[in-house]
Amino acid sequence: MNFPSKLIQEAVEQFAKLPGVGRKTALRLVLNLLQMDKEEVNRFGQAFIDLRNHINYCSNCHNISDLEVCEICANPNRDEGLLCVVEDIRDVMAIENTHQFKGKYHVLGGIISPMDGIGPSDLNIVSLEEKVQSGIVKEVIMALSTTMEGDTTNFYIFKKFKDYNVKLSVIARGVSVGDELEYADEVTLGRSILNRTPYENSLIQ
Ligand code: ZN
Repeated sequence: MNFPSKLIQEAVEQFAKLPGVGRKTALRLVLNLLQMDKEEVNRFGQAFIDLRNHINYCSNCHNISDLEVCEICANPNRDEGLLCVVEDIRDVMAIENTHQFKGKYHVLGGIISPMDGIGPSDLNIVSLEEKVQSGIVKEVIMALSTTMEGDTTNFYIFKKFKDYNVKLSVIARGVSVGDELEYADEVTLGRSILNRTPYENSLIQ
């Protein structure tokens, strides 16, 4: 693709770095930006600069938060004994939308995926272990994708914590295999959390 301007080329290349955005789409977006007034484009650009520079992760659950401790962790009405383990913040958002879960979360920041070179040490496992060791957590609910990577991660967590005095459960498989959690509809996802089962049961099948 030949560009009449280096400025356009640079902007297209930046947009094309995003997943799912090819150079054609990138060019369309760039031309769109050119039609906005200057102030609007400044706001557009500034939003991403601010996002990158000022985003914080909750020091307790690793959820994205504007504060040191996120609103969910800071909420005294939520049950600390019930800890829902998820892959990333999209899952927290999906589960929160169901309004069915009144416990707290622990965001792993990924799932174990040997194909992608992601092992347990790349995830927020140490802080999860500290929470389990503290004895405050009575039940760990594994709410990971029903993919092979999700299953591998569930099993890893089970092996790591099975000798602790903590209940280990998985969300019910209302979500069909291969589906990612964030795409499950709210009713199904809400039900699958309420109808969670002890992890051991899923091993017997
Ligand atoms: Zn938090």
